[in-house]
Amino acid sequence: MITKETILNYLEEVFDPEVPVLTIQDLGIVRDVIIHSDQKVEVVITPTYSGCPAMNTISTNIKFELIGRGIQQVIVTEVLSPAWTTDWMTETGKQKLKEYGIAPPQYTTKNNPSETEVVVPCPQCNSTHTQLLSQFGSTSCKALYKCMDCLEPFDYFKCH
Ligand SMILES: [Zn+2]
Repeated sequence: MITKETILNYLEEVFDPEVPVLTIQDLGIVRDVIIHSDQKVEVVITPTYSGCPAMNTISTNIKFELIGRGIQQVIVTEVLSPAWTTDWMTETGKQKLKEYGIAPPQYTTKNNPSETEVVVPCPQCNSTHTQLLSQFGSTSCKALYKCMDCLEPFDYFKCH
């Protein structure tokens, strides 16, 4: 018997193409798993960024993973509302981001100070003596910072 828990465990093996250390569970984008039968499973996800090309890859990766586990028919349904926010990212996910060298979101969307007031600690040395270099880092969801102590530049995963 396939259970929802089994599928959720399998989904721990599906990674975010943008940040390869994060699973889709870490991102918090899996909204539901519906077991139609032992052969047919539906995974309901909310895309992190609308129109983000990574989402197609995530759908494909979910299908590959579950089909590889013997599920014959895998349906991936996208739910756009409510929209995904960084608040849904798990604490494990934030920790992995930091270990990867990206400063995780420091605030919630409800308690998010203006960009100039945001204090982002350096993921390398934890110094809070950091400076915003650019609102847009390697992708639009990240900002580029520089640590004034260890002098390393780093990405900050912005709250949204
Ligand atoms: Zn530093």
